[in-house]
Amino acid sequence: MFTPKEARRFWAKVDTSGNCWIWIGSKDAAGYGFFYFQEKNQRAHRAVYFGLGRKLSNGQKVLHSCDNPSCVRPDHLFAGTAFDNMKDAAAKGRLYQQNQYAERAKQIILACLETVIPRLQ
Ligand SMILES: [Zn+2]
Repeated sequence: MFTPKEARRFWAKVDTSGNCWIWIGSKDAAGYGFFYFQEKNQRAHRAVYFGLGRKLSNGQKVLHSCDNPSCVRPDHLFAGTAFDNMKDAAAKGRLYQQNQYAERAKQIILACLETVIPRLQ
């Protein structure tokens, strides 16, 4: 749990003006915030999850329902497995790019078959 001092330090680095509450402190390249808590640098969305006394079971991660790595709004965070994260991503179309790639590969294969099959007949 956050101490009152940690909570003040945490929320001073959050912009709560939008729907997502954005971490405005230091972030990594992917947009995840960092917050020093429990004697280590943690991702900010994990820090707030634990800071509010929530817990994870084995194999669970803190996931974003809003898909925004910089968001630390507690009700946008939920516990789930890596598999849950994939399902969630697929449901929201985050895997669309990979699907597009698969679709392109399929088109290339079909185009090849179209040129090969007439020669086999
Ligand atoms: Zn959010």
